Amino acid sequence: MEPSQPFLPGSTIGILGSGQLGRMMTTAAKHMGYRVVVMGAAPTDPAAQVADQWIPGNILDPSDVIKIKDQADVVTIETENVSAEALAQLAQTIPVRPDPGIVAIAQDRLKEKGTLSDMGVPVAPFRSIESLSALEAALKELGVPAILKTTRGGYDGKGQVRITDPTQAAKAFQELGGGAAGLVLEAVVPFEREISVVVARGVDGQIGHYPVVENEHRGGILHRSVAPAPVPAAVAQKAQDLAAMIAANLNLTGLLAVEMFLLESGDLVVNELAPRPHNSGHFTLDTCVTSQFEQVVRAVCGLGLGSGEQLRPAVMLNILGEHLDAVIKAYPDLSLDPLVKVHLYGKTQARPGRKMGHILVIERSVERAAAKAALVWHSLGFEPGSSARTP
Ligand code: AMP
Repeated sequence: MEPSQPFLPGSTIGILGSGQLGRMMTTAAKHMGYRVVVMGAAPTDPAAQVADQWIPGNILDPSDVIKIKDQADVVTIETENVSAEALAQLAQTIPVRPDPGIVAIAQDRLKEKGTLSDMGVPVAPFRSIESLSALEAALKELGVPAILKTTRGGYDGKGQVRITDPTQAAKAFQELGGGAAGLVLEAVVPFEREISVVVARGVDGQIGHYPVVENEHRGGILHRSVAPAPVPAAVAQKAQDLAAMIAANLNLTGLLAVEMFLLESGDLVVNELAPRPHNSGHFTLDTCVTSQFEQVVRAVCGLGLGSGEQLRPAVMLNILGEHLDAVIKAYPDLSLDPLVKVHLYGKTQARPGRKMGHILVIERSVERAAAKAALVWHSLGFEPGSSARTP
């Protein structure tokens, strides 16, 4: 159901999911005068702590998802891992933004790659894998190294196995459920850098841009984002144009984060889409005129978009479970630097690899921000890591 009028402050935004993205969306919406209801597992979840109302529920369970209908005026998501079937049902009686069809694409790597290919967007060579023999045949075609991934549910490096030798096929196939879950094999893209870009699209088709960001992953989890990415202006422009084209082709209302590989040739290959705020866009909270969280509220409520202009360069460092104690201990020292911002998500359990918060280091230049971020990380007792590099 698509209304012609914007949702005004005082209306209730329903968010499916109650993690840190939902928390930061909720906080932005509250600043703007909206009510927020979130659905998630526990009242202690990051977004449930700050929302007006928490609805207990499993967002993968259609019979739970549908319950948000009576509590909200407009519904959005903080993760694509939500029942798309229930979203489609919800959309018959209440506006759901982004459209459930887009969520269905983004939650399934095969659909995502197929959709992008149809648009003429370059993606890694891939094959759908239904059996071990199909995997063996695909490895012959695509070669090694290759990455076997579950089509659904994978995040932060989970649900994927790198295959460096064809003899590892059976083990990799078993490790990812032996065909019980859908699988896709991807050729490894020899990228020079990983970049991402968030775009916003309003109900009227207006596009809002953010700067392109360079991302560094460790163990499959985002470690560091450098904003703006130290890439030639023509590459940044191409990445922004590509993201805007994808958002327009999908007829998206909301935000779209596009993860890309930048090749040495300057060509771009799209890895993943996320129709929601993104970890690599957290720098927007402290350094852009309009944060990605305010922007998604504006888009979802049918309002005009704010400026995505970045006022200062910044480097973001993710705080994982294994980093939290050191960050808390150093909190007073970190606070002595007025251009270092520590955000914590209020998660009650710190497990290794779990995203607990992030640090934003703001500076006059991206080089200074990267250098200071390295110092901050070192002062917390962590290694810069072999893959770390300054722009
Ligand atoms: P994903 O879950 O697809 O975002 O993958 C997590 C990380 O694994 C990416 O950010 C890359 O660092 C790496 N990766 C995934 N797919 C590929 C690929 N086809 N080629 C090279 N690296 C990849």
